[in-house]
Amino acid sequence: MARYTGPVCRLCRTEQKKLMLKGHRCLSDKCPINKKRPAPGKDPKARPGKRSDYGVQLREKQKLKRIYGMQEKQFSLFFERALRMPGITGENLFALLERRLDNVVYRMRFAVSRSQARQIVLHGHVTVNGKRVDVPSYLVKAEDTIEIEESSKGLIIIKDALKEFGKSGVMPWLQLDPDAMKGKFLAVPRRGDITDLGDIKEQMIVELYSK
Ligand code: SF4
Repeated sequence: MARYTGPVCRLCRTEQKKLMLKGHRCLSDKCPINKKRPAPGKDPKARPGKRSDYGVQLREKQKLKRIYGMQEKQFSLFFERALRMPGITGENLFALLERRLDNVVYRMRFAVSRSQARQIVLHGHVTVNGKRVDVPSYLVKAEDTIEIEESSKGLIIIKDALKEFGKSGVMPWLQLDPDAMKGKFLAVPRRGDITDLGDIKEQMIVELYSK
């Protein structure tokens, strides 16, 4: 599947929000959002115009899609699946996104960004319940065990990511043993548990796709 290969900081500048796409750099002073650089192509002196409802809904969808590093087609398939599930569609969408294997690998601190996690999965460095899985969109289930494949445990990028971010712990629905490079997906998180994505308004995404 085609991937966005352009400059990722540009995506954050477009959304005027930190999407955390670049690992260490996102937490440093070098982040263009910290420097308050304007959106690409925007005159910094221009007064902000009022966005239409469609424009606001579109931006919410783009933010979420970019945070999880997905393309439009794949994202809309996730939405359709969320729609078919019982319960609230917006919450179902978040639950599905959080279950993606590349996201879980990132959340377990085996990678500094979701795009790096995606590469780690694609290259076969991850096992789920002892079996190698190389599909980034694979959906992890509650109680699944995620582990770095035995022969990949010496990989510097994984060790560095754990050293850098492992100290800050993992989200409450995960369990991590950094020394064993192994963790557990304890439960599917609810929307209220996902506190690090800011003020994404999933209802607007639902409204956008319902048109
Ligand atoms: Fe770039 Fe990360 Fe800052 Fe986004 S949050 S602008 S990806 S450094």
